Amino acid sequence: MPVNFGDLTARAQMCVQRNVLALAVCSFMAGPVLAVSSSLEPLQTSLYKAHYAIAIEQYARLPDVERSSPEASYIKGYALLQRHQFEQARPYLEAAHRGSYEGFGGNWPSPAVLLQSVNYLQRSRPPFVCDYLDGRAVAVRLYAKPTPWTKHVSAAIPRFIERAESIFGKDLPTISFYFFDNYADFGHFFESLFSQSIVHMWQDGTGNTNVVTFCETSKDGTRHAPGSDWSLACVLHEYGHALCTTYFGDDYLRIVPNWLNEGMADGIALPYMQPSIESAERQLKQRAEKQGPPSYEDLCTGLYRDPESGYAFARLMCLELLKGKDPSVIRTYLAQAKANGFEPALISTFGVRGSDVYRSVARRFWPNF
Ligand SMILES: [Zn+2]
Repeated sequence: MPVNFGDLTARAQMCVQRNVLALAVCSFMAGPVLAVSSSLEPLQTSLYKAHYAIAIEQYARLPDVERSSPEASYIKGYALLQRHQFEQARPYLEAAHRGSYEGFGGNWPSPAVLLQSVNYLQRSRPPFVCDYLDGRAVAVRLYAKPTPWTKHVSAAIPRFIERAESIFGKDLPTISFYFFDNYADFGHFFESLFSQSIVHMWQDGTGNTNVVTFCETSKDGTRHAPGSDWSLACVLHEYGHALCTTYFGDDYLRIVPNWLNEGMADGIALPYMQPSIESAERQLKQRAEKQGPPSYEDLCTGLYRDPESGYAFARLMCLELLKGKDPSVIRTYLAQAKANGFEPALISTFGVRGSDVYRSVARRFWPNF
């Protein structure tokens, strides 16, 4: 079952479990220790707040002479690495290293340490397969070993891109897909890319800013059957996470309610979701025979503590929101959520509160609720 980490506490806990290489790119650094030149202070503040896209925009507006400084190169390289664009980060980190810049001090890593992460990620990723274009732009860049599973999923990528276009329009960001066949390789890559260990047994993949990762073999050794719609649903769900996170910006996973994060990714994967919708209905029906529904609060902030019911509930809630609407409403909703917050944007986009959708789904299975 796919999962995407959304809550700050979980992220902070996972940070404690980071390995040595992952230490290099942990978001929970001590604040800036060494002063930078005054024109770079806003960029340094953006990094400290984990606003990496903003830091990159601020960098682009610097005068040429400032932009080529080792300090500015460090900031841009660090921000790109946090946005999982490690290949693009390399030249900036190398420039900072050549300029003998050592970072902000304290727990902030030096360019040399960050370059170790970049080297590891480039060395350990699967081989490059091809680019999938959206017009002239690259929408998906695929890295994968040639396996029967990969062959089937990669054949569906043009359909994934069409689905993405129907929601987000023609200007899709480039998302790199990394498909693994071996769970240990996947785990090591994942830890280095995201600075956190995989903590959930069921997690075979994730979608985050600019990336999708997926492993065709689960942690317990079971394999996703090549050619199954379930695999397509899982990968499109992760692509959905990647698109939402990339469109919304760096704060997305820190503030999105769990049920909206998972349910909207399911909404994006809708073309392959029919079996999962039926299994969600079965799951909640069975639960209703034994116990009450999860609380709305649990679905917002604690969905991963009871994933089976949580995912099922989130899926049905978002499908109710999206029913009869053009899929582009997802993009409209994200834009409004960015401006006004996730709950207020539910009212302005869909005309309902989250708790109303929750009650409506709950009453289908718990008539007396
Ligand atoms: Zn997910």
